[in-house]
Amino acid sequence: MLAGTGALVRSAVPLAELTTLRVGGPATVADCATTESLVATVRALDAAEVPVLLVAGGSNLLVSDDDVASVVVRIATEGVEFGAGSVTAEAGANWDGVVAASVRAGFGGLECLSGIPGSAGATPVQNVGAYGVEVDRLLRRVRLLDRATGEIDWVTPDTLAFGYRTSRLKHSDAAVVLAVEFTLHPDGTSAPLRYRELAQRLGAAEGETRPAAAVRETVLGLRAGKGMVLDPADHDTWSAGSFFTNPVVPDAEVDRVLAAIRDRLGDVPVPTYPGVGGVKFSAGWLIERAGFAKGFPGPDAPARLSTKHTLALTNRGDATTADIVALARTVRDGVAEGFGVVLVPEPVTVGVEL
Ligand SMILES: Cc1cc2nc3c(=O)[nH]c(=O)nc-3n(C[C@H](O)[C@H](O)[C@H](O)COP(=O)(O)OP(=O)(O)OC[C@H]3O[C@@H](n4cnc5c(N)ncnc54)[C@H](O)[C@@H]3O)c2cc1C
Repeated sequence: MLAGTGALVRSAVPLAELTTLRVGGPATVADCATTESLVATVRALDAAEVPVLLVAGGSNLLVSDDDVASVVVRIATEGVEFGAGSVTAEAGANWDGVVAASVRAGFGGLECLSGIPGSAGATPVQNVGAYGVEVDRLLRRVRLLDRATGEIDWVTPDTLAFGYRTSRLKHSDAAVVLAVEFTLHPDGTSAPLRYRELAQRLGAAEGETRPAAAVRETVLGLRAGKGMVLDPADHDTWSAGSFFTNPVVPDAEVDRVLAAIRDRLGDVPVPTYPGVGGVKFSAGWLIERAGFAKGFPGPDAPARLSTKHTLALTNRGDATTADIVALARTVRDGVAEGFGVVLVPEPVTVGVEL
């Protein structure tokens, strides 16, 4: 079925080898190293009505331990090209490589998104964000393969329904991102610094800018301290990053949640931020205050909260997907019981449900 597509097909590949949580059962994997091969492979599988799972860096995926009943199309394209004030990257290009190359080339704009694992093409999927910047602010256009029509087109960001860690591409089989293009600052200055901890480290006031290279270095340092830069030797980074999104509590329910927090913790300052349609609470804060310390449930467990950051669920070496799911349920249920807020996972789950 995939003859002539240019894909390299391998069977019974453990998805644990392709995900940063290093869990996931076996699947047939079709590696696509060119955009032509990626398009031909997805079109052929769609025509044959074979379920497809797109995987690039595997850093936002939690896949079942059982046989994965889809062909995994692994996006392994790599091209990156700079224009006057822009960068265009093929979907499989390593994201941090794109950011590093932009900064090296003297461009600003993407530096707050340094150190995020995974691919350029996945960044619009959940509107990747960190340190006060989300990709939709800088995206100029996205090249999509529409899987219903088979057509390929560049679309503008306004068509992608971006929100906090979401877009119309997330939890959807409608399209494949083939390439992304970003507008950059040709003068090498950073995006305005919106994240207090980052601005303070750079000796800047919030809203000021700094040279992109200095911001990148500072972001990488902050992220490493939280186990948020991949390091094979550090199990705190065998994760999918933040496992839960920060919950946006609708305005009408905010008083109830604050009352539940007061009942349990007394009159403590509660970190909150403005959210769309409500108030955003910090998932990490809620998890910790619900009684789950860093490293929970303890040194012998195969799946634990990171010892650096309560929001990351980590594999200590031989965890299975079932172990990660059990830990996620315990944490979610503890926060729901404590404060009446149901946390929602940020990674895409395949063949498993919390
Ligand atoms: C240590 C660590 C830190 C992280 N920090 C952050 C952070 O600060 N901010 C943040 O937003 N995220 C963060 N993440 C999550 C993750 O890195 C991002 O979501 C990243 O964009 C995922 O890219 P990927 O290539 O690994 O995607 P995958 O995990 O391979 O795929 C994720 C989803 O996108 C789909 N997908 C992938 N490529 C395409 C494509 N070309 N077209 C259509 N669909 C596609 C997949 O089918 C899947 O549903 C972190 C993860 C880790 C492990």
